[in-house]
Amino acid sequence: MRILVVGAGFAGAVYARTLAEAGHGVTVIDKRPHIGGNAYDFADTNGVRVHLYGPHLFHTKLQRVIDWLTRFGSFIPYEHKVRAILPNGKLAPMPINLDTVNAVFGTGYSTAAEVEAHLARVALKIAEPRNAAEHLQSRIGVELTDLFFRPYTKKMWGFDLEDMSPSVVKRIPLRTDRVDTYFASDETQMLPRDGYTALFASMFDHPGIELGLGTGFSRDMLKQYGFCFNAMPIDEYFGFQLGDLPYRSIRFHVRTEMDGAAWEAPVTNFTDSGPYTRETNWDALPRHRVEATGRRTITREEPCDYRDNGMERYYPVKTADGRYQALYEKYRALAEAEPDMEFIGRCGTYQYLDMDQVINQSLAGAERWLKQQ
Ligand code: UDP
Repeated sequence: MRILVVGAGFAGAVYARTLAEAGHGVTVIDKRPHIGGNAYDFADTNGVRVHLYGPHLFHTKLQRVIDWLTRFGSFIPYEHKVRAILPNGKLAPMPINLDTVNAVFGTGYSTAAEVEAHLARVALKIAEPRNAAEHLQSRIGVELTDLFFRPYTKKMWGFDLEDMSPSVVKRIPLRTDRVDTYFASDETQMLPRDGYTALFASMFDHPGIELGLGTGFSRDMLKQYGFCFNAMPIDEYFGFQLGDLPYRSIRFHVRTEMDGAAWEAPVTNFTDSGPYTRETNWDALPRHRVEATGRRTITREEPCDYRDNGMERYYPVKTADGRYQALYEKYRALAEAEPDMEFIGRCGTYQYLDMDQVINQSLAGAERWLKQQ
């Protein structure tokens, strides 16, 4: 069958490759001029590999995802670290761990048991947290919540912690030991050795796949195909007839610095209530220095509404009342009536998914579809 895949990010790449390997002819289009979706990276004029749409750090527990992805390139182990700037200008590990607690409270704890006892003392008793604020307060108390999560979440989402779903902050683990890696709960943390774009080039390198970059979707294309896997925003496909599904976007402020002191961690989070959430020093990530120039590249992130950033959609919004997920369900019901189309990926399914989850869902979805043929 001739199949159209809309979107050359992870979802589209997994569908395209899986269907091409099963003998179908696949055309992949993307309105952007490059492959890789939001994982796209490139070497800039400072000789540094930069992820154009913010840092993408791969982590997973899913062996099937690792087995699939490692077919398309070599990976290097990398355990991501983040530091948060405290009001006194000092850095502390993020996610919160034993050293973070000591830095904030001036304590001298050396065991997890002491930190657990401290957190149990400051935690509020909330049996069933209804929102992100209550979730955090029931685990780390008011002070740590207000320092590390309140201003950051407000600038990230444009909403207070009370308005956000607990699931948004549950992405961040809480540690009572000294482990200071961001994704410690996932056994596999790795980066594609030569970057994400090279990995995508290899995924799309199949005689059954044809790529059309810089090509937006239009309904009249469908006539030429037996089926369409569509990663475009589902509300846009339906002409926003039920209302918009909102997204947060990011303005990236990129600057060049002369090489200087090493950073404690590649990413620094800002706890203040200014406009920026975090900044990334790209050459502190392994193999991101591709050429010695004496300069480094740093990207600062300023979240905003996607309508204020050229409709660049990065993060689906999950409020505590689930109103946008309810709206998405209405669009999904409309989509059920389209027999030859399935919506895929972050924008097609309106979910805040990590890369491994997109790959996993897409592998399962492509296999399911192939079995039905
Ligand atoms: N968060 C926060 N302070 C931080 C880091 C994260 O308040 O220092 C909250 C914020 O609401 C954020 C969410 O936790 O949107 C998830 O953070 P994560 O680092 O997983 O976001 P991503 O890397 O996907 O942007």
